[in-house]
Amino acid sequence: METVWEKYGGSKQKAIMEFSEGYKKFLGESKTEREAVKYAIDLLKKDGFKDLKDVKKLKAGDKVYANNRDKNLCAFIIGKEDLENGMNILGAHIDSPRVDLKQHPLYEDSGLVLLDTHYYGGIKKYQWVAQPMALHGVVCKKDGTVINVAIGEKEDEPVIEFSDLLIHLAQDQMQKTGAKVVEGEDLNALFGSIPAKGKDGEKELVKKNILDILKKQYNIEEDDFISAELEIVPAGKPRDLGLDRSMVMGYGHDDRICAYTSLIAFMEVTKPERTTCCILVDKEEVGSIGQSGMQSRFFENTIAEMLAMAGKESHIALRHALRNSKMLSSDVSVAFDPNYPSVCEPKNTAYFGKGIVFNKYTGARGKSGCNDARPEYIAQLRKIMDDEKVIYQTAELGRVDQGGGGTIAYILGNLDMDVIDAGIAVQNMHACYETASKADIYEGYIAYRTFLRDIK
Ligand code: MN
Ligand code: MN
Repeated sequence: METVWEKYGGSKQKAIMEFSEGYKKFLGESKTEREAVKYAIDLLKKDGFKDLKDVKKLKAGDKVYANNRDKNLCAFIIGKEDLENGMNILGAHIDSPRVDLKQHPLYEDSGLVLLDTHYYGGIKKYQWVAQPMALHGVVCKKDGTVINVAIGEKEDEPVIEFSDLLIHLAQDQMQKTGAKVVEGEDLNALFGSIPAKGKDGEKELVKKNILDILKKQYNIEEDDFISAELEIVPAGKPRDLGLDRSMVMGYGHDDRICAYTSLIAFMEVTKPERTTCCILVDKEEVGSIGQSGMQSRFFENTIAEMLAMAGKESHIALRHALRNSKMLSSDVSVAFDPNYPSVCEPKNTAYFGKGIVFNKYTGARGKSGCNDARPEYIAQLRKIMDDEKVIYQTAELGRVDQGGGGTIAYILGNLDMDVIDAGIAVQNMHACYETASKADIYEGYIAYRTFLRDIK
């Protein structure tokens, strides 16, 4: 099979390189789901999208978005066809594995101040130690003000870290299994070490000093951590990888790589026949639960509101709109890694440079815990992709019985629509820095655009 690089031979590869610059900017500035939503809304507004709250009536060509508590977003371009006839939907998740602060995070031990944490999503904890980390999120004050925090991204800003044991004294540690080398309760982030001036016998002066700095620089008091959402993430911007600059290494490809490509593709299909939709959703890494996850009623409620604006307040109209929809669940897949060939089955594995990956199912244990796309739908997708000469591949996430991955696909499947996982292949998934091919990022975007335009 031809690679994407060969498809865009010579000077046409410039388009691939240029597209990845936009993606790198988004990725570097979207370290949390809130930051991703903010970035997306800024792009949408610049492109003429309006908040659905401010709209009374919808007509073909209208562009709107619905913001779910700054952590989940659904954007729509209204089609010429009736909404009840269904939508063409792209859905990606914008949460990534990270380490969250507990509600009582701050403590002093042996002259050091540390932050107690709880990791979020599936991580190999030993990958997250002894690296520069940044602190992102919000602190909500009792008076209703929300303080945005982002410390550790700029060159002159301090970083934080989870320490690791020196190799010299790691004889016992090195005998442990990977799951136990670094344990969850040992992920305590180093946050300070200068004592404040205190009275005689006063204790915890380093913590006092840190609290003084938090108050002075951010107006944050210790109790405010109770109503905060603070996430420790790998610091720094995404970088080109490889002497030929063919790949991007960065934090959070899973799944902001599919979020960005979906969103850009979505904004480019301006006068669709069927209403198009782009969903950016939270909480996939922990099971898509809660008010901002895909299992939330928010998406259905939004569609119900839009139908009501068209005078269709019936429950059945909503069910029709969902049942008649077609969706790509835009989520990353595993890229074959020659260093670890044994976990993948070569015929049914994705490779860098070979385009978007269609995953009929991502749960590998006897196909459990997954969506199972029907072949009639897959045949339709093959047709529209081949007609547009889009390069794509099909894969499973690993060999049978090796594991598997989560996805939002089955949740939309439960709503009775056709859906299949379709995303970009990634190496080092869920490590601090993941790697993807620029060719696949570009061809992923082309595939998403083709889907929105051509699927019926
Ligand atoms: Mn994912
Ligand atoms: Mn994931």
